[in-house]
Amino acid sequence: MASPITKLEYRILGQTGLQLSFVGFGASPLGRVFGPVSEDDGIASVREAFRLGINFFDTSPFYGGTLSEKVLGKGLKALGVPRNEYIVSTKCGRYVEGFDFSAERVTRSIDESLARLQLDYVDILHCHDIEFGSLDQIVSETIPALQKLKEAGKTRFIGITGLPLDIFTYVLDRVPPGTIDVILSYCHYSINDSTLEDLLPYLKSKGVGIISASPLAMGLLTESGPPEWHPASSELKSACQSAASYCKEKGKNISKLAMQYSLLNKDISTVLVGMNSIKQVEENVRAATELFAIGVDSETLAEVEAILKPVKNLTWPSGVQKS
Ligand code: NAD
Repeated sequence: MASPITKLEYRILGQTGLQLSFVGFGASPLGRVFGPVSEDDGIASVREAFRLGINFFDTSPFYGGTLSEKVLGKGLKALGVPRNEYIVSTKCGRYVEGFDFSAERVTRSIDESLARLQLDYVDILHCHDIEFGSLDQIVSETIPALQKLKEAGKTRFIGITGLPLDIFTYVLDRVPPGTIDVILSYCHYSINDSTLEDLLPYLKSKGVGIISASPLAMGLLTESGPPEWHPASSELKSACQSAASYCKEKGKNISKLAMQYSLLNKDISTVLVGMNSIKQVEENVRAATELFAIGVDSETLAEVEAILKPVKNLTWPSGVQKS
């Protein structure tokens, strides 16, 4: 029988003072990024997450062409609790129509997002996948525009997101200290790729809060496997599938192991996992709380790491290719 779900851990996000549940709710599945999800299931997932102690919710106007923000907004409203009991991040600069990191677009973007989310402010506004824009524009135009939005009270904190890790050092080395509060990295702190680890001392020295997303490597580390659009090589996909099958044969669950692996590093304030059902919320929260009660299954983890060794830290290209 499954153990009862106990309390989640909360961690401080850099110098923001925000205390985030160490499991965060990734709302891209609510935009049907990973397949069909009804609005009712989306709202129910948000409510169950909050009920079990998750207080951090992440979305973007890009996910499902604004659908994720709309469903998350409805889910948060249905909580019926004071606004300061949950923490919301959304993003700007990436849309289904394409990328636009201009000051004009991101300034308009936050008002559109707030309307869809039915909120007066977000806690974090991220520049979304900055490797697809000009990093110099991010430094000289986008971030100053976001600072004005911060002064206007539309966002409390500013963040940047993307896949390649060197985008973070490029930007953080070029903005005044304290300008960027948070970074969101994805697919770089999971069993198959832990390259974010090397950057943690630098990020801490800059005083930025660290959010790690996609502990299941966007579906690679699940029994059902990744969506059609997943950008990984077939070599990486098939190694992850072998690891998932191995766990299943042994009566173990690769997603649980992957969640626990990502949650172990306390320098990472929160791990954002995309969830589309009450069942997934409960499984992921249970994986997190069992870390305290039981600890990680180190034998199976070592076996999975051995299966994934040939593909360890393999990633894929993202962004505007430099000539
Ligand atoms: P993920 O690694 O969290 O995997 C999500 C997939 O795993 C979905 O299909 C989900 O339904 C499934 N899943 C979740 N729990 C499961 C369980 N217990 N068992 C089996 N399957 C399970 O990838 P993600 O959703 O891309 O990342 C999490 C969140 O982080 C996103 O929703 C988004 O909010 C954020 N994110 C941001 C960026 C960015 O800013 N560039 C990039 C990636 C992710």
